[in-house]
Amino acid sequence: MVNERMLGLGSARSVIRELFEYGKQRAAVVGPEHVYDFSLGNPSVPPPDAVNETAMRILQENPEIIHCYTSAQGDLAARTRLADSLNRRFGTDYSPEELYITVGAAASLCCVFHALTCPCDEFIVFAPYFPEYKVFIEGAGAKMVLIPPDTEHFQIPLERFEAAITPNTKGVVVNSPNNPSGVVYSKETLQQLSAILTRKSAQYGHPIYLISDEPYREIVFDGFTVPWLPHIYRDTIVCYSFSKSLSIPGERLGYVLVPRQAADAHAVYTAVAGAGRCLGYVNAPSLFQQVTSLCCDMTSDLSVYQYNCKLLCSALRDMGYEVPQPGGAFYLFPKSLEPDDLAFSQRAKEFDLLLVPGSGFGAPGHFRLAYCVQTDMIRRALPKFQALADSYK
Ligand code: PLP
Repeated sequence: MVNERMLGLGSARSVIRELFEYGKQRAAVVGPEHVYDFSLGNPSVPPPDAVNETAMRILQENPEIIHCYTSAQGDLAARTRLADSLNRRFGTDYSPEELYITVGAAASLCCVFHALTCPCDEFIVFAPYFPEYKVFIEGAGAKMVLIPPDTEHFQIPLERFEAAITPNTKGVVVNSPNNPSGVVYSKETLQQLSAILTRKSAQYGHPIYLISDEPYREIVFDGFTVPWLPHIYRDTIVCYSFSKSLSIPGERLGYVLVPRQAADAHAVYTAVAGAGRCLGYVNAPSLFQQVTSLCCDMTSDLSVYQYNCKLLCSALRDMGYEVPQPGGAFYLFPKSLEPDDLAFSQRAKEFDLLLVPGSGFGAPGHFRLAYCVQTDMIRRALPKFQALADSYK
């Protein structure tokens, strides 16, 4: 006998992984240059040279210590550098005691959901959303409440949101720049969200936390800004990751920030540490705690994503695809050319285009296109997108 839920999670591959695996098999048949894989959000630009140089320097200078356990919450010097960097950038005064270093954003989120969840608690999530949220929230024993999308602008549908808040609402998750829409939530939207949360927290007599999942914070294009959420809503907990900004998803490094101004901050931070212990994280990789904290003011060359985004947006729009305006990350979320996005994605495969159906993100009738790929592949894929569009005429 094994745990049914875990068995289910382990056996069901995500649609994205299915497509990715299909792409590999297809490449073996037709050749990799004839498969146009837009399925996976793996950064396509290398990390800054300083990442590798710093790692090598530390390994040479400090080989005994660097492979040892660190404090569970992360090495103090690393947390101090991370706090200093945030303070420089956002005009804050965080201390290392407000930061808990994790094994990436996934772990940050899991720790926070586990830390906050009491019996009957609910977390609100806005579609389209990163599908692992459901796994993480339910894994913590809470319920995910999904708000259907505003399919015109993919901003937060505030009325629907307010109506969904109940006395059991413990938190709300926002992800901006967004996976899968690429949309950046505007400051006005976030201010209104904050006003609703403040009102509802007072009405129900307990804090409703805003959990800001920010792996794409740095990937933001000209004309867009990602507001610092703790400035807008006091009870914000930030879940960050270096996976995308430094192109190191395999190294597994991120953090949770529980600002001391947030309600019950000390208890929340301590419970995050407890969750990390319960989930067996022990400590985030020691070498990359040092590397990321020494390189945290840098990013990979993110301009490539903006270039790819412009190239694809304008070409797809010219072909008649409806593409909501992205402000960052490396995803587009166009409308599928038929209402059934699964059928659409299936038809796209006939042109060797691997596009992820929107249903898995809670937004049927759309598809996700990850453009963290070589620009050359995008150029070669454009006639295929045209042929796909023509097949609907
Ligand atoms: N949150 C979102 C919205 C993501 O897109 C991802 C990864 O793609 C994660 C969290 C997990 O990131 P990490 O690699 O840091 O665990």
